[in-house]
Amino acid sequence: MTYPNTQLLIAGVWRNGSDNAKIDVRNPATGDVIGVVAHATLADLDEALAAADAGLRIWDVMGAFDRYKIMRRAADLLRDRADRVAAMMTNEQGKPLAEARAEVINSADIIDWFAEEGRRAYGQIIPARHSNVMQMAIKLPVGVVAAFTPWNFPINQVVRKLSAALGAGCSIIVKAPEETPAAPSELIRAFVDAGVPSGVINLVYGVPSEISEYLIAQPVIRKISFTGSTPVGKHLAALAGKHMKRATMELGGHAPALVFDDADISQAIKLLSTAKFRNAGQVCISPTRILVQDGVYEQVLDGITRFAKAVKVGDGMASDTQMGPLANERRLLALEELIEDAVAQGAVLCAGGKRIGNKGYFYEPTVLSDVPLSARIMNEEPFGPVAIVNRFTNIDGAIAEANRLPFGLASYAFTGSAKAIHAIGIGIDAGMTTINHIGLGMPEVPFGGVRDSGYGTEGGSEAIEAYLITKFVTQMTA
Ligand code: NAD
Repeated sequence: MTYPNTQLLIAGVWRNGSDNAKIDVRNPATGDVIGVVAHATLADLDEALAAADAGLRIWDVMGAFDRYKIMRRAADLLRDRADRVAAMMTNEQGKPLAEARAEVINSADIIDWFAEEGRRAYGQIIPARHSNVMQMAIKLPVGVVAAFTPWNFPINQVVRKLSAALGAGCSIIVKAPEETPAAPSELIRAFVDAGVPSGVINLVYGVPSEISEYLIAQPVIRKISFTGSTPVGKHLAALAGKHMKRATMELGGHAPALVFDDADISQAIKLLSTAKFRNAGQVCISPTRILVQDGVYEQVLDGITRFAKAVKVGDGMASDTQMGPLANERRLLALEELIEDAVAQGAVLCAGGKRIGNKGYFYEPTVLSDVPLSARIMNEEPFGPVAIVNRFTNIDGAIAEANRLPFGLASYAFTGSAKAIHAIGIGIDAGMTTINHIGLGMPEVPFGGVRDSGYGTEGGSEAIEAYLITKFVTQMTA
């Protein structure tokens, strides 16, 4: 396939930026430039703001049922186009084609979910103190949303924000990832082709810090949503606070995965290893600190090591590839440093540990054991294909290690004990805990973190609330 150049969408028009500047897009499997993405100027952002402001009124008055029909149509168009969009995503992001396709299909399901949730954005009638008074709490769209999304799930990260905003009746300016621009632009094209009016969705790319600082300060913007690293999230949350904007922050993680002596060990090895190397580990909920009880430690370490050594790494377009390259050169360099530091501090390298070849950004599926707490990788999100396997003796020690870091996004546990399940469910300080299976991320379940992993949820029935305000209206009826 030929990879497309990506344009901005402003006020219903696909176009380049007003100064015609463009940024190169590379295929991480080769490092080669495969296209360009248009770069927005501040004048373009002003146009997007005006368009979104006008779009808000059109979309809001359209009503929930008509919005729902358009959104469902967009979901179906995306499904119809899944093969083509997935190939674009693999070319720009690197993940295996099957993973890219699954992301597209799951994203269509997310659109359906929020389309339906929009029809259920109920308020309440509140009993009044007098018989001639009516009191209503009604739900209204919060206003124009600015969304900032990263490159690891080029469509999924956009669709959670975009669909929740549209379902609630908001308009939106999406600043999608410059490194993986074509797939998100195809997502938005599906909405446009389904009949979303001009101005309701605007899509920009450019210098992320320039765009976010400019947009967040604008009175037209009423809510922001960001997915990315904790330092950038804290910076944007501070800007949101300064300008009194509502915010949802989906930030980094360092997920603990506890495997107890009494667990189904082969199941734990299979599920955790598969989850670990999905998308080359560039997943905020990736199981990162695999903590294993003494009695099964060697068995689990051996199983994960064997799994890692057997993963077929290659170009995501090849049908037998199980893990693609890292998405960009930054990740490669960051991973090399983290692993070098861990080994220098005494960690045992059980599998992988180096770059593959010198073309593209391939890195070996890696397993480290006995990693000291002082190693950087035990404290910073590795965001790459590296499993840390350390041991624990009792549940209190395991939960203490799980909660040691300031992150609190996903957590995992495998155990046959009801008592341990209960202790883990309430004891791990994280937004999500999945026990004896991998059950995170469906549209209908909450998705979000606590502490340095951010706030708000991007799934489940709570997610649309972030895009609604509750307005109280009271009237005297006679
Ligand atoms: P980064 O922190 O610079 O960028 C992360 C994302 O935020 C990118 O998409 C980037 O374009 C965007 N961004 C950066 N500065 C911004 C700003 N001022 N305003 C708006 N958007 C901004 O780092 P990176 O090298 O792209 O990724 C490194 C780390 O980011 C990873 O190690 C991981 O911890 C985290 N990350 C998390 C997720 C996630 O799903 N939570 C996704 C991607 C990256």
